[in-house]
Amino acid sequence: MKCDNCQRELTASEPVYRRRTRKKFGPYTRIAYNGSVCQSCNDEFDRHSYNKQSFSKYRCKICDRPVFWRAGRKVVKHMVCSDECAAKAHRANKTSTKRICENCNESFLAKRKDAKYCSPKCRQAARRSRQ
Ligand SMILES: [Zn+2]
Ligand SMILES: [Zn+2]
Ligand SMILES: [Zn+2]
Repeated sequence: MKCDNCQRELTASEPVYRRRTRKKFGPYTRIAYNGSVCQSCNDEFDRHSYNKQSFSKYRCKICDRPVFWRAGRKVVKHMVCSDECAAKAHRANKTSTKRICENCNESFLAKRKDAKYCSPKCRQAARRSRQ
């Protein structure tokens, strides 16, 4: 992934900071947005702000990269380091939840990892046929 601020390509183990940054659009317009920046960019931001932000350390659930997230801020369910990984997490989520029911052979969206049946009805029917 790339640092949102300096556009440097980061190594796989380099930590990122999820924080509000400013992106340049042309010479004058700067828009604040949430981005992922590298360590040195984060230090740079802190140097220019009056109240230093403190961070808690997490890990990206896709690539295992250390992610620093604003301490005290609500932690998102899917902690990822970048938009890239967020897209991957979204895709992984989609494919892993599609299952074939072991009773009626219909495909269904499983809410749980170990779900085998499309409905309580099928689960019951399968249990009954085993007895
Ligand atoms: Zn940077
Ligand atoms: Zn990641
Ligand atoms: Zn079924």
